[in-house]
Amino acid sequence: SLFGLPDQAAHERVLFATDEQTGLKTILAVHSTARGPAFGGCRFWSYGNELAALNDALRLAQGMSLKNALANLPFGGGKAVILKPAGEFDRTALFAAFGRAVASLNGAYITAEDVGTTTGDMRIVQQHTQFVSGIPRDGAFGGDPSPKTAWGVFVSIEAGVRLHLKRDTLEGVRVAVQGLGAVGWHLAEFLHKAGAKLLVADVDAAKVARAQELFGAQAVHVNEILAADVDVLAPCALGAVLNAGTVPQIRAKLVAGAANNQLATAADGDTLHGRGVLYLPDYLVNAGGIVSVAREFRNEGEESAVMAEVSQIRDRVAELLDRIRVSGNTPAREADAWARSKLVAG
Ligand code: NAD
Repeated sequence: SLFGLPDQAAHERVLFATDEQTGLKTILAVHSTARGPAFGGCRFWSYGNELAALNDALRLAQGMSLKNALANLPFGGGKAVILKPAGEFDRTALFAAFGRAVASLNGAYITAEDVGTTTGDMRIVQQHTQFVSGIPRDGAFGGDPSPKTAWGVFVSIEAGVRLHLKRDTLEGVRVAVQGLGAVGWHLAEFLHKAGAKLLVADVDAAKVARAQELFGAQAVHVNEILAADVDVLAPCALGAVLNAGTVPQIRAKLVAGAANNQLATAADGDTLHGRGVLYLPDYLVNAGGIVSVAREFRNEGEESAVMAEVSQIRDRVAELLDRIRVSGNTPAREADAWARSKLVAG
């Protein structure tokens, strides 16, 4: 449906905006404003077709509603995607036009960085709307949310290792990191410092080589990283990596990573669970970035307060495991129900 995803609550509004001069084609999806304005980043991506872009916007916006609710933020969920123009384009003019599209929603949607967008892009957006975050400020925290996202994933892995693998520290724990981008790189650094043994894969060979050099990581082919013989798998690249083809091959006992929408379908979460793999839902563990940009937007607190709030994700992982013990649900289904129960005015 153009109005929402199958079997899910419809999105409140979806704006398709174009700008002939710059070639902008963007979709801004507002899933829910029940808790407050819809907050979620802007993805800049080459989509195979326009329906794929719409599907991505709808799925990501809904994920933001669940993520913001579980993180107890006074924000709803939304997301924007910009379809990367096929030919030459003026990036500044394109993001200026995007800023005007965000402004047209009068605060129902607040944007920030996501895959393919930078703090520089958000500075341009800021010239056209106040409803943007993730911009570095002199003498105050803010800007690139990726290190905060990585910290949230790291504390989740720590909690999962302690509670599910029954190991007190990450010393010697084998972790496969898929994708050494903005989040994956910081995560690898945190894991290395904690004594974990890293196996890494990225389509960018230079990043892999740096991880080998700096973290003593073992390089794994991109087609083999999901099936690596490890304790923990951290998908930090693409969505839908946990699917009917990959789930039977996963050897890790714990899956926790930054990538959004890791489960291709809810059934894949059931299969993982059936195989004894603990999957920590992406929108629970990767909320560190939105916690950071949300605080920045409200001009609240300082770096240490942001880190303390991000670290609370560790407690939520423990709470999720407690809830599962009571309900008998899989973690994915339990987190979904928990988040949806919070999709109400705060
Ligand atoms: P990024 O673009 O900086 O990094 C992605 C990395 O994955 C790149 O290094 C890329 O080369 C690599 N990659 C692409 N295809 C791959 C493949 N098939 N195998 C292995 N590596 C591959 O993005 P990011 O900001 O680090 O985000 C990573 C994921 O986390 C995304 O799904 C994003 O939506 C999600 N996420 C990011 C944040 C954040 O704060 N940046 C917050 C929440 C969720």
